[in-house]
Amino acid sequence: MSTHTGATAGGQAPSGQKADCLFCRIARGEIPSRKVYEDDEIVAFHDIHPSAPVHFLIVPRLHLENLYDADMKYQALLGKLLGVAGQLAREQGAVDGFRVVVNNGRVGRQEVYHLHVHVLGGPDPLGSGMNRT
Ligand code: ZN
Repeated sequence: MSTHTGATAGGQAPSGQKADCLFCRIARGEIPSRKVYEDDEIVAFHDIHPSAPVHFLIVPRLHLENLYDADMKYQALLGKLLGVAGQLAREQGAVDGFRVVVNNGRVGRQEVYHLHVHVLGGPDPLGSGMNRT
């Protein structure tokens, strides 16, 4: 549970967030992002290095490192991350299909250790590679 405490020394992060985490800071509005959606539990924003014409991330405001950090008590939150994906993908112009990718840990090539769902789409079919995001 230590990773879930937001009260790190010197930080003013709300409970459940980390003061120095990139995505926690984006969720708090401390770092600008091109948001596509937000509510009291989740935030969605465009990837700064898009791998497809439509490429945004959906993240929980709660700081979970990745799916190793997310057990069944978070099932409602985890479901919400996917539950908004289709609507947001459509709103962003991915109207004929999209891909969802969640990278976990070193082997999964996770770059930011705050759980995030990549949504990738665009007018043309995506490559078959699963190693590009
Ligand atoms: Zn975080």
